[in-house]
Amino acid sequence: MARVYNFSPGPSALPLPVLEKVKAALPEYADTGMSVMEMSHRSAMYLDIIHDAEARLRALMHIPDTYAVLFLHGGATAQFASIPMNLMVNGVADYIDSGNFAHGAAGEAVKYGKVSIVASSRADNYTYIPDWKGKLTPGADYLHITTNNTIYGTHFIELPEGDAPLVADMSSNILGEVYDIEKFGVVYAGAQKNIGPAGLCVLIVRKDLLGHALPICPKVFNWATQADNESMLNTPNTFAIYVAGLCMEWLQNQGGVEGIAKVNQEKAALIYDFLDNSKVFKGTAQKEFRSVMNVTFVTGDKEKDAAFVKFAAAQGLVNLKGHRSVGGMRASIYNAMPIEGVKRLVDVMKAFEAQQ
Ligand code: PMP
Repeated sequence: MARVYNFSPGPSALPLPVLEKVKAALPEYADTGMSVMEMSHRSAMYLDIIHDAEARLRALMHIPDTYAVLFLHGGATAQFASIPMNLMVNGVADYIDSGNFAHGAAGEAVKYGKVSIVASSRADNYTYIPDWKGKLTPGADYLHITTNNTIYGTHFIELPEGDAPLVADMSSNILGEVYDIEKFGVVYAGAQKNIGPAGLCVLIVRKDLLGHALPICPKVFNWATQADNESMLNTPNTFAIYVAGLCMEWLQNQGGVEGIAKVNQEKAALIYDFLDNSKVFKGTAQKEFRSVMNVTFVTGDKEKDAAFVKFAAAQGLVNLKGHRSVGGMRASIYNAMPIEGVKRLVDVMKAFEAQQ
């Protein structure tokens, strides 16, 4: 077996023990006579699986009973439309534009009401989190943020505090950093980074925010309807939820979010420390806002960037090419990337530098 160190931004590496467990449960899960893929979502054996995944997520994020946990379709992108349809009671929402996904979320919301971009770093290619202080709209239905900007390698250091419920796209740092869930009205995340396989979106919503959907909201996007049906209004992504539950079990064995968050800090610091002393590479995000999950860097020369990506791939470090809007490189170092992988990356960067 030749597993590589996969620095993909998503879908990204899953913990090997999880993949091995999945393999062992094919073609038969426990003593059920079938695989999880073949089970009715309404069967007692599958209900155990989804309830277990929810319980583990609640334990990992310390989610109280005042919040509902939903397993939805359509990734985070479907929620860009569902958010305004579920929350725009007065037709006014604030958005902080800290990256392309934040921008896309706001772009969906304008179809349903008045959207105010209270702060934006778009003009500076999103190299920092823009300052929102004193700019929030009184009476807004909600304030939307993207806690970690996957493409640009930035994250919020301080959460905005206002009167409106805070709605957070946490796709690329959920379960990788410690958050107090009670600071949020809604947290949602596409699964394919720290949760499990793609095609699943986890949404955590404070229960008092349920039941106010716009009349035009399709029922499959209506969170209250989904909550009433325990995410089974229609057939959920049963297999992805099962694998997500295994990833959560794995994470609990790593000391939970609190435990892995420390390792994640260490991992990120290894690369940033190297970057800050390198003569060849430099980080692209402003230091203060540097992400713990996605480290973006360049050499300043496109050909050299490409040469490095090739050099690293030849040594089993793959998917390091940056997003086209930033260029250069991006090392996505989510929970499943072991610190050994990050040390290898720094060694390979050093070796490349020595050749220049
Ligand atoms: N938000 C963020 C922060 C993301 O990183 C991504 C995907 N990489 C998305 C939204 C879109 O997620 P999905 O593809 O699951 O719709």
